[in-house]
Amino acid sequence: MADTKYIFVTGGVVSSLGKGIVSASLGKLLQARGYKVTIQKFDPYINVDPGTLNPYEHGECYVTVDGHEADLDLGHYERFLNVQTTRDNNITTGRIYQNVINKERKGDYLGKTVQVIPHITDEIKRNVKLLGSKYKFDFVITEIGGTVGDIESLPYIESVRQLKWELGKNCLCVHLTYVPYISAAKEYKTKPTQHSVKQLQELGIQPDVLVLRTERELRSDLLRKVALFCNVAEDSVMQSIDMPTIYEVPLVLQRQKMDEIILRKVGLDTNTNSDMKQWREFLDLKLSAKDSVKIGLVGKYVELQDAYKSIDESLLQAAIYNHHKLDLHSIHSEKLNNENAAEMLKGMDAILIAPGFGQRGIDGKFAAIKYARENDVPCLGICLGMQCMVIEFARNVLGLAEANSTEMELQTPYKVIDLMEEQKNVTYMGGSMRLGAYDCLLKKGSKTYEAYDKELIQERHRHRFEFNNEYKNKYEEAGMKCTGVNPDTDLVEVVEIPTLKWFVGVQYHPEYNSTVVNPNPLFLSFIKAAIENKKNKVQ
Ligand code: GLN
Repeated sequence: MADTKYIFVTGGVVSSLGKGIVSASLGKLLQARGYKVTIQKFDPYINVDPGTLNPYEHGECYVTVDGHEADLDLGHYERFLNVQTTRDNNITTGRIYQNVINKERKGDYLGKTVQVIPHITDEIKRNVKLLGSKYKFDFVITEIGGTVGDIESLPYIESVRQLKWELGKNCLCVHLTYVPYISAAKEYKTKPTQHSVKQLQELGIQPDVLVLRTERELRSDLLRKVALFCNVAEDSVMQSIDMPTIYEVPLVLQRQKMDEIILRKVGLDTNTNSDMKQWREFLDLKLSAKDSVKIGLVGKYVELQDAYKSIDESLLQAAIYNHHKLDLHSIHSEKLNNENAAEMLKGMDAILIAPGFGQRGIDGKFAAIKYARENDVPCLGICLGMQCMVIEFARNVLGLAEANSTEMELQTPYKVIDLMEEQKNVTYMGGSMRLGAYDCLLKKGSKTYEAYDKELIQERHRHRFEFNNEYKNKYEEAGMKCTGVNPDTDLVEVVEIPTLKWFVGVQYHPEYNSTVVNPNPLFLSFIKAAIENKKNKVQ
């Protein structure tokens, strides 16, 4: 295809409308038409990346293969498109300013006064176009974080205005708004939508497509009214109704011909096939599942909807491919202890110990692991979860009662988990962990090898601490085997207790690498073990 087409997705009225899902769904539909698509997110905050934000602020931190700590929407993009993203797919205001200030210090602006317009907007535009020019995508979909009208998103909106002007037909704006239902009046109200479009128009942007988020189906006369008041063609006003899963949204938008309308607007052939076969098969599989599998997720952020987003989605995908519904139970690690573990974990077909940082809630994780190990309940530990498996084993099997990670207790006599060598001189917290994809060599015959069905795998990391190899022999002799190591550094990436049904800890994050058409093998194997455990219990 000759020119890259740029589509911006903006949001109005309120935040949390699901711009990420709409962007991912549109991307999916265009990809199904045979185009090379990528999706990018601009976040209007000053943090250089979301790596230093805790989950209360911004949900999960997603990690790309090239080691960028990214917004969780990139996880949706990868799950929908099955195409890896990189640091070029997530830009924050902090990074834009950092780049501009670095250029200014280098003298690149040749004595000019450096200003929001044109210098900040130019840097924003450069980052939009980079995906088209560097990676040769046919479509670059750019999601603008925040809500139109926010002070902090103004430079982004201005950049969109300029790009629409410069690129003409090759650039579109899809605006997502909310249509609330006022129950006292028994009416849906479009006024907030009209106002938010007006706000965009005041900033010089005429949206090309409107997507109205609503809880229930809107009448067609209401859509016509929005079209008329907002200068948008009638067929280009669509609705996105709440769905049981996010994976149904592409089909909802396809029924309203979103792909055709977009293709027509950018001047591309609409008479092409849309191949959504695999996607539909996945949804059919989901609908046909009758039995459910009960998984306990133990973590300290379980009350937050988005804190373990990629884990939740990976579990759901794996359950569906195992012909089961996912019955996910969040268990707050701060409420869990050795006395109540049996009661709180009763009935779980398997237990997942979540990643995390710091001391809070850690004892609950030890209690859950002890319960799983002693009662042979399938258990998967991810990152800190794996480290907790190692510590629990030291304390309760190796007899090293004071064993710990130096993250939790610097002076512990048994540093079974210790700071990585390359982390010892790190003083800057931002972007300085061991991040991104690394090789891992799996031992033949292990559960992990069986799951992946190959020896060499690549999975993504985000941590500073590691298994202390000084203790490796002790662990192996006592029955906890190191079944995955990094071939270059010898870092232990996987531990297992082979005498148990399924007890695996991974230092890496398999959840960052699980998509609808390509679910992660470790999650598939974990859910399979959970289902077998359930069947055994029944017998
Ligand atoms: N806090 C641990 C470390 O830094 C684990 C991190 C994680 O779970 N992502 O090594």
